[in-house]
Amino acid sequence: IPFDMRDGSLWFDGKLIPWKDAKVHVLTHGLHYASCVFEGERMYSGRIYKLKEHTERLFESARILGIKIPYAIDEINKACMEACEVQGYTDAYVRPVVWRGSEMMAVSAQKTKTHVAVATWSWPSYFDPETKMKGIRLDISQWKRPAPDTAPTAAKAAGLYMICTMSKHAAEDKGYTDALMLDYRGYVAEATGANIVFVQDGVLHTPKPDCFLDGITRRSVEALARIRQLKVVERHIKPEEMAGFSEAFLCGTAAEVTPVAEIGPYTFKPGEISRMLLTDYLADVQREKSVVEL
Ligand code: PMP
Repeated sequence: IPFDMRDGSLWFDGKLIPWKDAKVHVLTHGLHYASCVFEGERMYSGRIYKLKEHTERLFESARILGIKIPYAIDEINKACMEACEVQGYTDAYVRPVVWRGSEMMAVSAQKTKTHVAVATWSWPSYFDPETKMKGIRLDISQWKRPAPDTAPTAAKAAGLYMICTMSKHAAEDKGYTDALMLDYRGYVAEATGANIVFVQDGVLHTPKPDCFLDGITRRSVEALARIRQLKVVERHIKPEEMAGFSEAFLCGTAAEVTPVAEIGPYTFKPGEISRMLLTDYLADVQREKSVVEL
């Protein structure tokens, strides 16, 4: 069912309203000029995993774009919970979104109102579990993550997803599941909606998030790895180094931990460490209190 035609309710500018009434005008600044930031969260067994971190990142993304959220952090946390509750979910994907309204229609948006909505839906696993254990195949994108002085790379800003959709479509057209994006310097960056981690001789190597999203899942998985006494190195990774890694996996709220079998010409074996961290992550999200502090 298309998203705009679903039943139920969602949180929109301070109250719960019928899902089908949650509309914006075509002359909305956020639509034309990408003055929009969002989050992606998951509720597991009635608790939203790392809700505090996600809400803080939402406020930080908005701050970077100069958008003032007209609610307190606690109100947004509450909105996320209410948006799940009203749908009767205990397990769901949660999507808070913040955008500039239609009061002005030009590059300048000084007088626009800021709108906030939170919608939730059922999204069992990003990649189907069968494929998940086999490892997915990634293309290497033609598009590069831009430099931090070219775009607001630390924000989860809608505008930054333009090249993600283009990269993902190009990969899908070639039969791949997703695409790995390099950064403006040519280093390995991330996938189109998740971070990437590699394994070499029991050590995790992951790109330093200096020009792309600092994933909350990546931070959780790194902390879980340290509990397992695994060393984690955040550094710049050249594409050709991928030849020397034994395992690779994606991490993200939607992707959770997803083993990768192929990235362009490089192959990996979804192995022990990916499986262990997937199991540890799936255990942590179910705990009343996560064992990791971020
Ligand atoms: N990079 C991109 C481009 C993403 O869309 C996501 C998903 N939000 C991530 C990384 C992973 O972030 P997180 O673990 O916080 O969901």
